[in-house]
Amino acid sequence: MSRLSEEMKIIPRVARVLAVLAVLLVPIAVMTYGLLNNGHGDTGWIAFVALIGLSITVVFSIYILVIGYIAGDARRRGMRPVLWVLLAIFIPNAIGIILYFILREPLLQNCPKCGARANAAFAFCSVCGEALAMSCPGCRSAVQPGWSHCARCGASLGGRGV
Ligand SMILES: [Zn+2]
Ligand SMILES: [Zn+2]
Repeated sequence: MSRLSEEMKIIPRVARVLAVLAVLLVPIAVMTYGLLNNGHGDTGWIAFVALIGLSITVVFSIYILVIGYIAGDARRRGMRPVLWVLLAIFIPNAIGIILYFILREPLLQNCPKCGARANAAFAFCSVCGEALAMSCPGCRSAVQPGWSHCARCGASLGGRGV
């Protein structure tokens, strides 16, 4: 749950405000429409309109938050937020949103020495050369904890990276 709230923090404020506005305004709009068109004059119609209004509100506000999440997440991954927000909105059936989560780049990391932003898969900082991750003694590519051999050149890591 704390991880989720951490992730929610990257949603831009404008998207959160829009989501709150949607929660407030969509039910009012739908109920107003329902009452003005209350040709049946029965409580079943009102209940039906309330249910529809609730569904639209939930879907619409979640949609706004997901778009906002994509904008914030693309920015911190060094991807183009405007492009991905437009793709997420305009490719129908949420395919743009799904594509984003399939194609998104790994998170960036900050170099501990110079602070430059670097791809999380990089073993060394491209600005100052500081080691960012364990690397293979043979080819210097990044290796992960627990690997016994380098995935790129096959060199033995003696059970762990160095
Ligand atoms: Zn650096
Ligand atoms: Zn290697």
